[in-house]
Formats: sequence, C-alpha cells, structure tokens
Amino acid sequence: MYLPDYVMKTLKTLNDAGYEAYVVGGCVRDYVMGKKPNDYDICTSALPDEMEALFERTIPTGKKHGTITVLTEEPLEVTTFRKESDYEDHRHPDRVEFVSDIEIDLSRRDFTINAMAYHPDTGIIDPFDGQKDIKRKVVRCVGDARTRFEEDALRMLRAHRFCAKLAFTMDVETRDALNMNADLLKYVSVERIRDEVNQILKYNPWQIKEMTKLLEPWIPELELADKCEQVSPWHNMNVLDHILKAVMSSPVKDETVLWTLFLHDLGKPACKTTSTEGRDHFYAHPLVGKMIGKRIMRQWKFPARMQHDIPILIEYHDDSIHPSLKTIYKYRIKRGWSEELMEKWLIVRRCDLLAHSPTGQQTILKLNEFEALYRKCLKEHPMTYKDLKINGKDILENTEYRGSEIKEQLDACLTLCFYQPEMNDRDRLIQFVKR
Ligand code: ATP
Ligand code: MG
Repeated sequence: MYLPDYVMKTLKTLNDAGYEAYVVGGCVRDYVMGKKPNDYDICTSALPDEMEALFERTIPTGKKHGTITVLTEEPLEVTTFRKESDYEDHRHPDRVEFVSDIEIDLSRRDFTINAMAYHPDTGIIDPFDGQKDIKRKVVRCVGDARTRFEEDALRMLRAHRFCAKLAFTMDVETRDALNMNADLLKYVSVERIRDEVNQILKYNPWQIKEMTKLLEPWIPELELADKCEQVSPWHNMNVLDHILKAVMSSPVKDETVLWTLFLHDLGKPACKTTSTEGRDHFYAHPLVGKMIGKRIMRQWKFPARMQHDIPILIEYHDDSIHPSLKTIYKYRIKRGWSEELMEKWLIVRRCDLLAHSPTGQQTILKLNEFEALYRKCLKEHPMTYKDLKINGKDILENTEYRGSEIKEQLDACLTLCFYQPEMNDRDRLIQFVKR
C-alpha cells in the first residue's frame, strides 16, 4: 500500500518511541478496492498525552475520546486504540476506554470493510474478513448487527451510505437487523440524518428505494409514492421510481437541484384521481408537494437559502415552457427570479422530463426551444434593474416621482425594455417616464 511521506514519518515516530501504530478505516478499504484514499487516519497504542509529548505541533481535536490532530504536511488524525461501551442514548457511547490491542479497536468499528488496519512491515490486519466482503461487495456489521445498530442508530444510515457510495449491497443479516431496528433512528439528530441522505442522493439515489421504511417517520410520502402507479401516456414508472430517476438524471450535484427533484412529486399520492377511462391525474400536486417539501425542510433544519428556493422550484416544476417572451417575462421579471434560480429551474425541468415515458420525453424538444430563446434573451433583453440604462436617481432628478412611485416607474421601464430592448437608452427612458 502506498503511503505518503508524512504518514510514513508519523508511523515511524510512534514506532521509534515504542508504540504500535497503523493506518486504519476508510483508507485501507479504499486501498483494497484499488482506489486512491482521500485521507489517512492513524490509530496507535500511544495515549493522547504521550502523542502530545512526542509531536511538536498538535491540536487536541477529540482528546477525551483519544483523537489528536498531528500537524504534519497535512493534518493527520491519530487516535488511541479504544473500545466504547454503554450506549445509553442509541447514539453516543457513555464511556470510551483506551486499550492496548489493535484488534479490540477494530472490533468497535461499524462495518467489516471499515475494520481493517495496515502497517508497511506487517501488512493488512483484517480480523473480520473485510477483504472478503469487499470481494463480495457487501456491507456487513462487525459482530452482531442488531447490537451494533442498537448501540449507535446512525450506523443504519451509514450502512446505506456505503452501499450507495461503493455500489455494494447489504449483507442479509445486517439488512434484517436494520429493518428490525428502524425505529431507533429517531435518536439520531435531524442534521445527521439530513447529511447522510444528502450524500446518498449524490452517490446513488436508487438506494432510497430500500430506505422508505427507515425514513417513514419524517417522509411517509416515500412509501406512498412507491405504491403510487401512474396510468398515463406521460409516465412508465410509479411515482417513487420517477422521482429517483429524475434525481439520477441531474448533470450537477447542486444540493438545491437534487433536493428539489427528490421532493418534487411527493404531493402526487395525495392528489391522485382516476378518470372513467382509467387514466390517472394529479391535479394540484406541485402545490401539495411544495407544502410537503416545506415541512421536511423545516423538520430537518435545512439552510435558510434552500428553505426559500426549493419550495418555489417545486411549486413551478410543472409550469409552462411555452417558448415565448411572455413566458420568460413571467419567470424573470414578474416573479423576480434570479438568473441562478432560473438556471436551477431549467435543470429541474429537464431532469423531470428525462424521467418520463418516451412520449413524455418528447416535451424536451419544446424545453430546448424555450431554453434557446431564453439564452438569446439573456444577451439581448434587460431582465433586472441593473440592466437598465436608467436608475432611481435619474427619475428623482428628472421627474416629480417620489418614494414607491420610483419603483413603479422602474418596473414600467423594465417591462418596456424587456419587450423593446432598443428603448434601453437613458434619454429615451427619461422621456418615457416623463410621458
Ligand atoms: P469516507 O471515505 O467516506 O470518509 P470512512 O470509512 O473514512 O469513509 P468516516 O466516517 O470518516 O468513514 O469514519 C472513519 C472510520 O471510523 C470508519 O472507517 C469506521 O471504522 C469508524 N467509524 C466511523 N463512524 C463510526 C460509527 N458510527 N460506528 C463505528 N465505527 C465508526
Ligand atoms: Mg474518512
């Protein structure tokens, strides 16, 4: 296993002082899988005080739990071998105990693929068959899965995250234990849940298919969406599959786009009606979806910006794409959308359409037309006050308008210039306002 210089040096410093030390966890897993690790963690028999005495520059990152950051070329987290016990709240161990045996340290780790250590002299230490599980492509708990999830319920989400990230499946026993313990997830903070789901949406949204039960306390609509068929020429999948395919289709990992797509059709199950000919309709689902999205984002404490933008994108995800100036005016000027929000809406719209049936996908041609017109307009047509050759001061100095009237006049100028860009000239606009 290739180890960078600063990692080798740190191992050697610990070894020369008489301590055991290994690289451990994600980096060993990545190495076995033939991937380049994104960082290196070290574990050692040295106690935190002993590490501080040994290295010149350190930060006591998580000293109580044995973790010291050693400042080398790159900061390196070095943690004393430890075991954990008495997980009272299904999340944090009440006690960590420092131990001298690497295998005890490995046994407290979550999954076999994460429970391997490596030293350049002795090779890989793999007491739980992590290498075999990597070959089998399975995520399997170290030890008894039920106990491990009861100790720390976050591991249930981590199991799904590693499946999504590595394209692994869950070992049967681990999966059964997870399903049995699903209700313990309520002990995990909403921020942690949100962050794990966020990563899963980036790695592989299809993983969510297997998480509907786990997430039910927060998003009961996922189960409903999975049972909600869509008899319609526009669709060839149930609502959940459509949603996940839409997320999959995103060419960007922008979180506002991914979460909009993830939430955009959750209003459908509640809005479904079936016509006498047997066709399904989902009238008003964007508005219902917007309310559901708001609720989820509030309970999972999303950043304010996302709580603001995502409901808007959900509400208008199904809106007109008639390629005309009037439609563009409606979005950018009447609704006051920023260029950035409009870009996100265009991606959302396209991904939604890509997840339709071949018939539904024909609408993409119209979206292309709309987008081409919009891009042309962006260059030629003023869309914000900033694009105007007149400003509030000009109106104040040249006319009798005051206060809110100034904004009204600017709005009138913007509308005029949007439809007639040749009018965007300071003198002509002053004449227009004076009319
Ligand atoms: P990544 O490459 O995504 O960072 P990682 O394996 O390094 O993956 P981390 O969350 O950085 O994952 O954790 C580092 C190591 O600490 C893991 O490999 C695992 O051995 C251990 N670990 C982390 N969280 C837990 C947990 N909740 N329970 C048990 N062991 C854990
Ligand atoms: Mg890591």
